[in-house]
Amino acid sequence: MNSTVPGFADLGLVPGLLLGVQDLGFESPTPIQAQTIPLLLSGDHDLFGLAQTGSGKTAAFGLPLLQHLDPQAKGIQALVLSPTRELCVQIASDLHKFSSRMSGIQILAVYGGAGIHTQISKLRSGVQVVVATPGRLMDLMERKALDLATVKTLVLDEADEMLDMGFRDDLDYIMTHAAGRCRTWLFSATMPAEIKKMADRFLQNAQTLRSDAGTAPPARLEHWFYQVPFSRKYEALKRLIDAHPEMYGIVFTRTKAEAQELTEKLIREGYDLEALHGDLSQVQRDKVMARFRERSLQLMVATDVAARGIDVRDITHVVHYSIPDDTEVYTHRSGRTARAGKAGVSMVILGPKDMMRLRQMEKQLKFKFQQGTVPSGSQIAETKLRHFFDKIAKADPKLDRIGALLQDLQPMLDGLDRDALIQKLVWLEFERLFHYYSLQNDAEMQSNALSSASASNNGDRPRREYAEDLPGIQINLGIKDGFYKASMLQFLLDHSGLQKADLGKIILGDAWTSIEGEQASLDQLKSSFDGARFRGRGLKVTAKQAGRGGDKPAYAGPRRGSQGRPPFQRNHNR
Ligand code: AMP
Repeated sequence: MNSTVPGFADLGLVPGLLLGVQDLGFESPTPIQAQTIPLLLSGDHDLFGLAQTGSGKTAAFGLPLLQHLDPQAKGIQALVLSPTRELCVQIASDLHKFSSRMSGIQILAVYGGAGIHTQISKLRSGVQVVVATPGRLMDLMERKALDLATVKTLVLDEADEMLDMGFRDDLDYIMTHAAGRCRTWLFSATMPAEIKKMADRFLQNAQTLRSDAGTAPPARLEHWFYQVPFSRKYEALKRLIDAHPEMYGIVFTRTKAEAQELTEKLIREGYDLEALHGDLSQVQRDKVMARFRERSLQLMVATDVAARGIDVRDITHVVHYSIPDDTEVYTHRSGRTARAGKAGVSMVILGPKDMMRLRQMEKQLKFKFQQGTVPSGSQIAETKLRHFFDKIAKADPKLDRIGALLQDLQPMLDGLDRDALIQKLVWLEFERLFHYYSLQNDAEMQSNALSSASASNNGDRPRREYAEDLPGIQINLGIKDGFYKASMLQFLLDHSGLQKADLGKIILGDAWTSIEGEQASLDQLKSSFDGARFRGRGLKVTAKQAGRGGDKPAYAGPRRGSQGRPPFQRNHNR
């Protein structure tokens, strides 16, 4: 081993953990482990870790977390929060493995979608480490099934993902209730403004460590905007796709209708894509996702609701066919690319009237977008030719399949040398592409060729209203009942068996919540809740009322005395 790189034995781990690590076959620590483990073992430090999945971060926080446990002490000593059930299970399993050579350590994973009563009885039997999703943890706290007063170590894993998923209020609540903790370790793959704010609020004198220090360059996400007349947005999108043959990405639209319309138009023109929106059945959506994942599709055109939580590796581009009204939506969309240390590009196509909105977003995001120019016909023709030649260079012809055909064709080019052949090939392709693009006016695509005055004469028209066009229902539960957005979502999912992706916008009022979704999902909600009882009160599910659900979500504010939400009861007499 290189003498400058510490081995696990140099990090200060107790023998039981060292043996656990050896059993797993880990030979030397990853960069984040080498930096983090000695620091976290040496005292009560807060930490902000910029680290992706795959960096070895679970052991980076897991080993010190286990070493800080006091086997004699009662109550939960360490709490790990993670965004998804899968990650929760993964972390708990890793912690089990690390501590397999130690005795008396009880670790439990708790997450939504699994029986809460089993989890409660396991918690009662006494555990030292809980790995939880925020929604289920809130539920357990409200049922008084666990108490965070004894927690000494609190870890937030993939905190950016948790914020993306709408758990901000839940995290605030949990952090406030684990007030006796000595150390808080926050891990995030990215550092948007929201994460920075959270770190400022909850961490004290925290050290910042990043998994890529001294190894890979930091994740690079470029933000570009392309301003064109409103009527030219479609052409601009096509040119951006054409100019980036390596593009593997998602095009976001505001509405399902827009996603469908755009997809059909592009497919007719030979593009390799499909739509992902709420009008598709779950089976259809799974099929689209599977084709996209295996790269049979170059692009997906998606609505925000349908694309929620999509985690596909190596997405190169996110295109915003409409600029979102909500800056968080922008961050969430763009976060589908530049993951795990990779580079990515986010492109906003906008009309002149959207410029003000872009400038507002820049203020909130605290960075400037770069202004791009929609590529000209000859630029695209050139790019496509390069791509074509690259494919020629890499092609691996199966002669047994085309041999006979070649014998017929080859004599046609007899007498042509290599240079002449290439010239002819380039000319034919270039002329074809150039001719195609010159049918559209390059100048009209250039944002700087526009003044706002000419823009309004150019077919620019007001944007459509933001709407998913989803049907909705309303339930007579709201802020007064101690809910806020994330806990309501978790509650709905836990008791209906639906998935997050089945539901659209959720808006909380004082005494009601409106929920949008596909009709089948709404029917399922209705049959799960209508007539059931909550705190002795009958629940009613009605069609969404006009005027509710269009306004801004009500902010529930800090939780108001909602302790002890009694278990939800189904009315079996219906
Ligand atoms: P993580 O980023 O914690 O999800 O870890 C990614 C993968 O790397 C997991 O499969 C770990 O088991 C593995 N791993 C973590 N640390 C090491 C190490 N020091 N040596 C070899 N593999 C490791």
